[in-house]
Parts: sequence; structure tokens; C-alpha cells
Amino acid sequence: MTSAADPAAPRSLHDLTLAELQRALVGAGLSPTHARTLWRTLHHHLATELAGHPDLLPPLQRWVAEHVGADRRYFTHPPTVAADLASTDGLTRKFLLQLADGQTIETVVMGFKGRHTACLSTQAGCAMGCVFCATGQMGFVRHLRPGEIVAQVRHAQLALRETGHPGLRNLVLMGMGEPLHNYDAVLTALEIISERSGLNLGPSRITISTVGVVPGILRLAAEQRPYHLAVSLHGATEEERSALVPASRRWPLADLMAACRTYCAQTGRRIFFEWTLIAGQNDSPAQAERLGQLLTGLAAHVNLIPLNPTGGFAGTATQLDAAKAFQQVLKQAGFPSTIRQRRGIDVAAGCGQLRAEKARETSPSGVK
Ligand code: SF4
Repeated sequence: MTSAADPAAPRSLHDLTLAELQRALVGAGLSPTHARTLWRTLHHHLATELAGHPDLLPPLQRWVAEHVGADRRYFTHPPTVAADLASTDGLTRKFLLQLADGQTIETVVMGFKGRHTACLSTQAGCAMGCVFCATGQMGFVRHLRPGEIVAQVRHAQLALRETGHPGLRNLVLMGMGEPLHNYDAVLTALEIISERSGLNLGPSRITISTVGVVPGILRLAAEQRPYHLAVSLHGATEEERSALVPASRRWPLADLMAACRTYCAQTGRRIFFEWTLIAGQNDSPAQAERLGQLLTGLAAHVNLIPLNPTGGFAGTATQLDAAKAFQQVLKQAGFPSTIRQRRGIDVAAGCGQLRAEKARETSPSGVK
């Protein structure tokens, strides 16, 4: 579930928690106050160029000159923008960000009434292989480092500032990748993002979404992590689910539901269950009934998400009438649910779609 890191390898300053930054600076003869100043410069003022920054007094300037830069212990390397698309309704903006090694990841900023939510990626590609997902269709490339997850929040905040909006209200980890397959880096990133004197997006504003990585769910519960949890189901029997979510073969539905019960019992939290509605495949009233039975006894809210079409999957989205009928069955079973708006179809806002489109554009054969 974790990415092995070489402790001697250069690190992005954005990989460091406040405690790690303090250790690094105190170890170099500076004070915790210097570390706090540098932290605010990085994570509150969102500076990327530290040399000559007016907030940094001479001792910090000297530390930066000695320790930060190419071939030094630390670096700051914000991703570059490979694509920046706005939906025609003006509510969704999708960025394809290029990382230092050339990998590209997607970050989506969605506007709702008076607030913005960013959808973050946690891996380049994904190993889970969900059949309807453009990222799953491309396969796993690598885990993101904490700083590469933090950088997406910084980028979204800067983009909102530039357009005169207040900052982000919420974060969802529902972009490219399976967050609990990259557990340590993701949880470190969230610690950095939540810090009050920096980006200050507290745990109650953050939702981790998993396709059902059972050990990760149990670890979140055991560690009493304070974030919201969303679990993607898409099928209420083993057969139906594993046809859409191959990871179900590794973590069967019965084990997943047992882990969800443990999570609710240990944390006292409810779980959001995600259900992609695919016409004629998992959207019948009988399937809604089975879902209600599966959730019996759980503190649950169901998010119903009409399918975002992808080139590699032939399914189509459930129509609104059928979605409402599905919702009605859940209501009778005692479960609240929300039919999610499909956002940014015209900017390929479904996870992995923009990267896949860009790859087709740059590949003469049309295949990555
Ligand atoms: S839906 Fe999520 S977990 Fe499934 S393949 Fe796509 S990115 Fe991975």
C-alpha cells in the first residue's frame, strides 16, 4: 500500500510536514520560528520562488541558498500546465499537470453555489482497472509523492485567486489513482494540506475515495483518521461488482462490507457509498433493493453518479427517471442518497479522460 522512498534522495520542500521542516531547519542551526516562517511562505502565501522572497530574513535566505535547488537536498518544482480547459458552463476547470519526470496527472476544480471543490489525483495511472474508467484503462504508472498531491491544491488555489474567487472549500481524492494504494504518501499530503497555518483545509473538508482496498479502510479506522470516507460499490453482488471492479476479486464484497462495518464501529462515522449508474447494467429497482440489503445496519449515504462516458467502455449513463426510481427504492430501504450532477463532460472531466485524450493526440498510432 505504500511507496518506498530513498531517504537520501532529494525531496521537494512540499513533501515535508511542518514537523519535518522544523527538524530540518533546527538541525541546521535555525529556530522553529524560522521553520514556521518558511512554512507560511510555502503553504499560505503559495510562493514557489524562495530566493529573495521578502518574508525570508537573512538566516533563512542563507539556508535556502545552501539547501534548495538543483543538485541540493531539497527542491521546489511546481508542476507545469500541459492543458487547462474550462467547461462551457464555466463551472468546471480541468488541469493536466506535468510533473518533473514528465508524467501527467489531472486536477479538476468544480464550482458549486458559492464554493469550489478540487478533485485530486493520487497516482499516475491506476492499478485497479475499473472497466468504465479512463485511468483504469491506462494502467498503473507510479505513486505520487506527498508534494505532488499538495501541489495540486496549491495550483487550484492559485487558479481561483487569479480569477477573483475565494479559495477551495472542499477536497475529494477521486481523481487518477486509488488513494489507499498509496496510503503513506496520501496521508502525509493530507496532514500538510490540513495544517492551519498553511493551506488550512481541515479534515472535515476532505473525502478519501476508495474502490475498496480493505487493508487501507481498516488502517484508517485503526488510526482514527478524521477524514470522510467514500467507498465505490457499483454492484451489490460479487458477480455484478467484479464485472465492473476487478479489485473485487482481491478484496471480495463480503470482506469489504465487513471492513466498512468495522470502520463505522471504530470511528463512529458514516460512509459515503458511490454507485456509478450504467444504463441496463446496474440501475434496476431490483439492484437498488439488493444495495439496500447490503447496507443494512450501516451509517450510509449513497451517491448515485450517472456514468461519464469513456472511449474504452461501451456503457451509457442511466437516464434521470431511472436514477430517481433507483433512489426511491433506496429511500424506502431507509438510505439517503444524492444523484450527482455530471460535471464538465465537454472538458473530459471524468478521471483520466483528458490525459488519455492528450496521449492519443501525441501518438501517431492513436494508442499510447
Ligand atoms: S475508478 Fe478510481 S480506482 Fe477505479 S480505475 Fe479509475 S482511478 Fe482507479
